[in-house]
Amino acid sequence: MATLQSAINGVASSTAVIVPSRPNPLAVTYRDLLSECASFQRKLAALGIGRASPVSIALVNSYEFVVSFLATSWQRAVAAPLNPAYKQDEFEFYIEDVKSAVVLVPRGAWDAGAPSVRAARKFNAAVAECYWDAAKGEVALDVKDLGQLKGRSEEKVLSALPDDVALVLHTSGTTSRPKVVPLTHRNLTRTMKNIQATYQLTPKDRTMLVMPLFHVHGLLCALLAPLHSGGSLVVPPKFSATDFWRDFAAHGANWYTAVPTIHQILLRHPAPTPLPAIRFIRSCSSPLSPTVFHQLEAAFKAPVLEAYAMTEAAHQMTSNPLPPAKRKPGTVGVGQGVEVKVLNSKGEEAPRGAEGEVCIRGKNVTAGYLNNPSANAEAFVTHAETGEKFFRTGDQGRLDEDGYLVITGRIKELINKGGEKISPIELDNALARHPAVAEAVSFAVPDDLYGQEVGVAVVLKKGERLAEDELRAWAAERLAKFKVPKKIYFTEVMPKTATGKIQRRIVAEMMQKQGA
Ligand code: ATP
Ligand code: MG
Repeated sequence: MATLQSAINGVASSTAVIVPSRPNPLAVTYRDLLSECASFQRKLAALGIGRASPVSIALVNSYEFVVSFLATSWQRAVAAPLNPAYKQDEFEFYIEDVKSAVVLVPRGAWDAGAPSVRAARKFNAAVAECYWDAAKGEVALDVKDLGQLKGRSEEKVLSALPDDVALVLHTSGTTSRPKVVPLTHRNLTRTMKNIQATYQLTPKDRTMLVMPLFHVHGLLCALLAPLHSGGSLVVPPKFSATDFWRDFAAHGANWYTAVPTIHQILLRHPAPTPLPAIRFIRSCSSPLSPTVFHQLEAAFKAPVLEAYAMTEAAHQMTSNPLPPAKRKPGTVGVGQGVEVKVLNSKGEEAPRGAEGEVCIRGKNVTAGYLNNPSANAEAFVTHAETGEKFFRTGDQGRLDEDGYLVITGRIKELINKGGEKISPIELDNALARHPAVAEAVSFAVPDDLYGQEVGVAVVLKKGERLAEDELRAWAAERLAKFKVPKKIYFTEVMPKTATGKIQRRIVAEMMQKQGA
């Protein structure tokens, strides 16, 4: 059956989760994980949490996150993970948006009057501290304030159905206000199967979890897909470049998935000696420049597989395949259990090689945004020939000669210079090849003559110097003249989201403000 509970497949006695806390790492078998989830589910039921109750989880990556997330979904309730590092305003935005019944916060948050606690109380959500109680050997749920749950009668222990919503997440808000995406058990389990099949994950695999669990990338690819495969995962509270390889080797991990920013941070640190055997490295959520792809493969002696994903698809849509199949830097590979088409606005397929909107279809895809009729009205397109409904990703792309997908940019972020559409990703990749450049992010800037001109924010490598005209001359040798950046902004740091994503809109605003 397509529910999270039925999709967890580990052998009872094998290890599911390892928390590398020092000095005493915690290792949990599948048997213990499942019984802990069942016991946590009873605690939620006793509070009156049942079908469709929104449970916000404001915890760092941890065993208690894993247990509270799974138990919530088993109880037919809806998990709404939140970045625990949010400020009060941000917590208020998300707690109000999903109408949280209860907010799970870390130990000590109540007494400290943490921002999550203050925001929860403002909207009368219950507040409960959730933590690993080492003395009792269990995940504790310590209710501090019942809020709206006061007087609610106990719920029975329920069993989820495939079409129950198990998770609501906000999109990253790159192009507009974050949209709320409901995902059902069926959506999530389909992605778990797709990811397992793409990377041939088996019980022997051990994942090093580095992405936060409050987004689909970490949650689906590094937690749920490994549990579906019967493998195990190593769960540090957050990514740390200094601890990464030590934990990786000490706990026998053999692969990881991350955003390009994290790969780049790892490349700036010395590679471990001896190098552990890495079966593959996955990159997803933002474009990976071919330069970084080659650096990664050389440094860590492992195949790098770039994938393409979005919240609305419960994460993965396409990926480069494992060897011996061909992996192609600069592409995001092929549909993995997901149908991928490049369509125009009438739903007609673009000729091979021509650009259009990337549209997808599969059981992993959400039925639509929550409370957002205007976004839903634009979200789907009907295929002109087959009449099938495809989800519009908002990304522009093309299929190359091997049928591999190349993402050329977000439709809303293309630079429109007097009618000439310029792909910011193509520019970023070209500029990042300059030996003095560490990172380049291109965007549109207003222009009297052309409407929009090309702007770029550039971070230089440590100790490097570069004049604007040198970079322009370098670009002019590699790109058509109209793509050469008019405005170049040198900056020390590139603004990014909590998951390391670039928001071109924000970068553009900040650079223009600084440059003014
Ligand atoms: P919003 O929808 O609120 O504007 P968002 O699209 O950034 O925010 P997410 O669902 O987190 O929210 O991200 C999905 C998007 O990330 C994709 O539509 C695509 O633009 C981008 N993306 C994901 N993987 C890749 C990749 N490998 N290469 C290029 N872009 C990618
Ligand atoms: Mg989006």
